[in-house]
Amino acid sequence: MIHANGDYLKLPGSYLFSTIAKKVAAFTEANPDKKVIRLGIGDVTQPLCPAVIDAIHKATDEMAAAETFHGYSPDLGYQFLRETIAEKVFRPLGTDITAEEIFISDGAKSDSANIQEIFAKDTKIAVCDPVYPVYVDTNVMAGRTGTYDETTGLWSNVIYMPCTAANGYSPELPKEVPDLIYLCFPNNPTGATISKAELQEWVDYANKNKAVIVYDAAYEAYISEAGVPHSIFECEGARDCAIELRSFSKNAGFTGTRLGYAVIPKDLKDADGVSLHALWARRHGTKFNGAPYIIQRAGEAVYSEEGQRQTREQIAYYMNNAKVIYDGLKSAGYTVSGGVNAPYIWLKTPDGMTSWEFFDFLLEKANVVGTPGSGFGPSGEGHFRLTAFGSYENSVEAMERIKAL
Ligand SMILES: *Cc1c(COP(=O)(O)O)cnc(C)c1O
Repeated sequence: MIHANGDYLKLPGSYLFSTIAKKVAAFTEANPDKKVIRLGIGDVTQPLCPAVIDAIHKATDEMAAAETFHGYSPDLGYQFLRETIAEKVFRPLGTDITAEEIFISDGAKSDSANIQEIFAKDTKIAVCDPVYPVYVDTNVMAGRTGTYDETTGLWSNVIYMPCTAANGYSPELPKEVPDLIYLCFPNNPTGATISKAELQEWVDYANKNKAVIVYDAAYEAYISEAGVPHSIFECEGARDCAIELRSFSKNAGFTGTRLGYAVIPKDLKDADGVSLHALWARRHGTKFNGAPYIIQRAGEAVYSEEGQRQTREQIAYYMNNAKVIYDGLKSAGYTVSGGVNAPYIWLKTPDGMTSWEFFDFLLEKANVVGTPGSGFGPSGEGHFRLTAFGSYENSVEAMERIKAL
């Protein structure tokens, strides 16, 4: 056998979005007169804000003159951006994260996929269920997840932490102790958050058990409620057990321009005393040649006064859609959660329908597209995700159609 572990081709996540695309294409071909509204979108739709566009223009002009041209960027990121992030993101939260602990990348998908490389082959991982598929899939590719059970959709060597209505979509501390715990709050797909006190329990659990938490904070900018932590480093002791992943995609619309970062504290060591900060620096420097200068300048502009004002307006636009969808579903009698600190609304399918039955029902009867919850993991069955990334007009119209069903 010379091929890599190919088991991951069986993962349900491999089929999810292509199956949706196929079903929608078949429907529109059969019903060319019907206007389909897509509320399954996992991508931003608002254009980059003027402060960011100005920074891109300015940096592009710099590239045209020999004195200001930039070639390879530093592997770990330009100091101007690392310092801006430390000062504008982490200092206001009362944390002491420094520029040296921030590793600039091309996005949180890559970081959440690649971070497993600095852990041992026999590392036991724990994930929420339902979950952003990247965490499990990349560990499957690395060959540490055991065997796949096609009936349950579970891997034998993964600890699944169900997030259900019963626990408010907030996982319980696992009884079997993992080495590496993936947490994502505000959550994709459920839109759920946990309180600072609850996150502190995770940090204490990890420190007690010498586990590492990978905390995906891609939706941090959507937090609207007090008491919801913006960073895991707000918790005491997190410097000894946590890695945080951040992205410019959802807070500033960089899904197409690509920029993100990982925060790995200098104090973070594994049980043998090996520095994970040093391992990641080595890994990143070997396999990544730096995010583009122009885009790092664009990222810096997000934290200017205008950049902050303009990106907050975009988030407010999406969150207004979230409210329209949340309130619309509620008044149509659905059981709904999320949508308050995240652009995702998570609903229970009515009348015991499966996630896919509800997908077909909604497409045929309301011509609205969403994402079946079972595509994110077995505990997502009987649930459905709608997103706030569409237009206001479409969000309103979709709710009118759903209310009329
Ligand atoms: C969108 C998203 C990301 C960010 O991805 P980028 O690669 O930075 O665009 C990370 N984690 C989750 C859970 C996401 O939904």
